[in-house]
Amino acid sequence: MKRKLIILISLLSIVLTSCASKAQPSISGALDDNYRNYYEVFVYSFYDSDGDGIGDIKGVEQKLDYIAELGCNGIWLMPICPSPTYHKYDVTDYKAIDPQYGTMEDFESLIESAHSKHINIIIDMIINHTSSNNPWFVKATDYLKGLSVGDEPNPADCPYVNYYHFSKDKINNTWYPIEGTEYYYEGSFWSEMPDLNLADEELKAEIKDIMSFWMDKGVDGFRMDAPLHYEETDTRFNAAVLNELYGYCKDIDPDVYMVSEVWASEQTIEDYYTSLTPSMFDFDFAQGEGDIIMTAWGRESASSFVNKMIDNNVARSANNPDCINAPFITNHDMPRVYNAYNGKQDKMKIAAMLLLSMPGSPFIYYGEEIGMMSYGPKDENKRLAMYWSDKAQSGMCMGPADADKDINQKCKPVDKQLKDKDSLYYIYKTGLQLRNNNPEIARGNDEILYESSSGNTVITARTWEDKTVFVIYNTSDETVKVPKSVISEYLSSKGLTKDVTVTGTMSVSGDGVKIRKEEIIIPADSVAYLK
Ligand code: CA
Repeated sequence: MKRKLIILISLLSIVLTSCASKAQPSISGALDDNYRNYYEVFVYSFYDSDGDGIGDIKGVEQKLDYIAELGCNGIWLMPICPSPTYHKYDVTDYKAIDPQYGTMEDFESLIESAHSKHINIIIDMIINHTSSNNPWFVKATDYLKGLSVGDEPNPADCPYVNYYHFSKDKINNTWYPIEGTEYYYEGSFWSEMPDLNLADEELKAEIKDIMSFWMDKGVDGFRMDAPLHYEETDTRFNAAVLNELYGYCKDIDPDVYMVSEVWASEQTIEDYYTSLTPSMFDFDFAQGEGDIIMTAWGRESASSFVNKMIDNNVARSANNPDCINAPFITNHDMPRVYNAYNGKQDKMKIAAMLLLSMPGSPFIYYGEEIGMMSYGPKDENKRLAMYWSDKAQSGMCMGPADADKDINQKCKPVDKQLKDKDSLYYIYKTGLQLRNNNPEIARGNDEILYESSSGNTVITARTWEDKTVFVIYNTSDETVKVPKSVISEYLSSKGLTKDVTVTGTMSVSGDGVKIRKEEIIIPADSVAYLK
């Protein structure tokens, strides 16, 4: 009964918000800007349209409604270009679709369908390195092999020799010999991933041409792979590369989005915001030891979580006033969230609530919304087939060939969770839709109004333009009562006399926040919004 009431209130607020909103609301009520709810898709393992067991572009298109109904209005497609590996993070042709995934026509159709559903698509841009099979690298090494002893390479004869790092010295153990020459090349990730030389203007012109090609196809932005490694430890250089490429893309489309994988501590991430590109993934808050999981476990207080979130935002905004945080819990390089909690559904729900409460654009790794697990350190096991059903059915993928066999997911599959309002899936759906219908959740700045002595209950006023939403955190396992004056005093200090109502609650119990005459009653393990 209580839950029905909460749903009714949420629905009412959806209707009211979509009617009141002036800036072109999408079907789900979200504004059409770069604050979005992103869904990270590993195409190989997501949905298979033609029965070969390998996920494909058409499969993603067929599942757009699933993604939209969850509440995501952005998709990050992991690499789709031709590549010799299953993960495709080593590209051989930057302007094509890997035949395993389909055709360029499939991709164009995906973009068109996604846009018709108000979903933006960003693609992985892997320019730290290429595949060793990339024609650029093949031509460069062939040229070096053809040099006579004593001849120095001349880029006028072969521009590709400047695309990579070549040296007659083996600089360290990530430099590999080129057979038949006296040269070595840098491959900081792997011998088959030669590092590109992003100081070369011809290479950068080629990369710009590639980005322009994909923007012509309709992509809405890029997820930049590994900028930390463009030139190892050279933040200034790397940030300048990001800035240059972003500026180039913005000239083509002022609304283009860019999010970068700077897998580093907060201080380094803040430094990268000097690139003036919109987003960096929020690594400190992610992963097993990150703030989201630590807070959901109760090992870090809600107060510490919120204060750190605010402090980070202030520091980053000083470097880029237009920064958009990109929080996430896990991605394709990390053990899944299930592993951190050993399947404790309640803890996973709290982690989801915390993620979805954060300003910025949250990224959800496919299958996270149902609590899929990974297994051990093997990358392949972090990228298993999407668990649509526990019965064999069309569209299910086989997953990476080198993943360990006979891994059984312990969560309920998608088809079961869709029918279960107590599922993790419904926490994600509720949290994402609240973000879509209340733009200040993603776009606002927080002011803390209340912190309990335990630190487990926090109330902030989050304000964007002239709109304020009150965000209520309770990570304690007890119902908590907070004087309503906490909010009414804030409102009267702003000259407002209105009464707040509950916009929506995410909670482990399913109970909603209640407002009494003098008190706000907050259920255990919940995040709620009042307006
Ligand atoms: Ca397929």
